[in-house]
Amino acid sequence: MDEVFEGRCLCGEVRFRAAGKPKWVLWCHCESCRRHSGAPASVFVSFAHEAVTITSGSIAVYNSSPGVERGFCARCGSTLTCSNEKLPNEAHFHIGAFERAAEFTPTGELFAGERLPWVQQQSGAFGGLSALAQVALARDRSRKG
Ligand SMILES: [Zn+2]
Ligand SMILES: [Zn+2]
Repeated sequence: MDEVFEGRCLCGEVRFRAAGKPKWVLWCHCESCRRHSGAPASVFVSFAHEAVTITSGSIAVYNSSPGVERGFCARCGSTLTCSNEKLPNEAHFHIGAFERAAEFTPTGELFAGERLPWVQQQSGAFGGLSALAQVALARDRSRKG
């Protein structure tokens, strides 16, 4: 009984669908995300690559730093994805692209050190810690269990 999450860019040229449970949902406060999105912070949802299907159009990519690709709609410019070779086999989508963005509740934050001073610290299971490290730890634990 897999859940399906539908998403699209602003103009609707790029459409996609993600099935199953997200791996994680996290804020990102890094400067690169800020520039790519134009927003003070981003929230990403991570799905396994095989859980995601592009159903219309294609996501244009920009290589923002070694190993990091940022996806967008070439027609309307919507910020859509960020992928990092340090987290292989994961598709990271900006939650704003999804129809049911409200269901993706962030549990922590990445790059807390780059958070703008007037953005409140995000609490939660991973709040204020190195969220990537916590994600990795949780994954190790579930592998063993
Ligand atoms: Zn578009
Ligand atoms: Zn970022």
